Amino acid sequence: MKVMVTGGAGYIGSVATEMLVESGYDVVVFDNLFQGHRAAVHPGATFILGDLADKAQIDAAFEAHPDIEAVMHFAAYSLVGESMQNPFKYLDCNVTNALRLLESMDEHDVRKFILSSTANLFDDPETIPITEKERIVPGSPYGESKAIIERFLHWLDKTGKIKYCALRYFNAAGASETRGEDHHPETHLIPLVLQVALGQRDRLKIFGDDYDTPDGTCVRDYIHIKDLAQAHILALNDLDKGSRKYNLGNGAGYSVKQVIEAARQITGHPIPADVVDRRPGDPATLIAGSETIRKELGWEPKYPSIEAIVETAWNWHKNHPNGYGDK
Ligand code: UDP
Repeated sequence: MKVMVTGGAGYIGSVATEMLVESGYDVVVFDNLFQGHRAAVHPGATFILGDLADKAQIDAAFEAHPDIEAVMHFAAYSLVGESMQNPFKYLDCNVTNALRLLESMDEHDVRKFILSSTANLFDDPETIPITEKERIVPGSPYGESKAIIERFLHWLDKTGKIKYCALRYFNAAGASETRGEDHHPETHLIPLVLQVALGQRDRLKIFGDDYDTPDGTCVRDYIHIKDLAQAHILALNDLDKGSRKYNLGNGAGYSVKQVIEAARQITGHPIPADVVDRRPGDPATLIAGSETIRKELGWEPKYPSIEAIVETAWNWHKNHPNGYGDK
């Protein structure tokens, strides 16, 4: 099967591309390289430098590859904090780019779609772990942009245009043997911790230790990107049975302090850290209830422990201290 991966030069998209190629799929990566890295694209994939802001470029990609049957859509802005500063970037680009892509898919008779969605749909959960039954309360313009796209998908499914699966990721982390996290600027906890261990940053900031959690720091559900990528492939292969949405995490929470402690053990570096003010928009605890995808697709994480996740990230950062070196 031929699959288009938008954002296939980015952190999660590049690992999904790697896994698709290595599982025997034909992959066309469509990426504008604003945030992604050309070197992250698996050499077995066809690369198209293209921008979802320009529908003609999307149309041209489908015309050049009329045998594309499915799209995995990773290309998006994805920072909660930035979206609070610049809501238009998210409510415009994320939403309209997805709509252009879906319209072009319809015109080219491409009927299968996997969406990178987010735990930021659940800003005020009534129940933890957070299952698919939880009400949708987006926590930011970023979360809202994904909620809107999920609503588009609902109607495109109802009108017989596409079958889709929305995967609501919790905290994607870790690395494959060859691909890892390289954001500019970096804002995520694990790569920042590892930058301290590499001597690239003096100290870490812990954003608040007065949350209602066991050690006072925020608790998150970290999911290894290879487990995440595997979920996309399982979802794609099951789409014929109908559209669906899954919350995707390990179902276990680790606090900021536990993540730092795991990194101290793995790197042997003391990783000095200072408690500072809370970061606006951070909920205390986000843990996924992923029983539905386990039951329906047989998805099983291979890297459920924080140690395994941090270790794979550490191996990648040690081998790529300047990331892909292109930004
Ligand atoms: N965090 C922190 N210091 C940092 C970066 C992140 O204490 O320098 C915390 C953040 O407040 C959150 C957790 O680490 O509770 C995970 O943050 P990240 O940005 O990695 O992912 P998010 O949960 O925002 O998707």
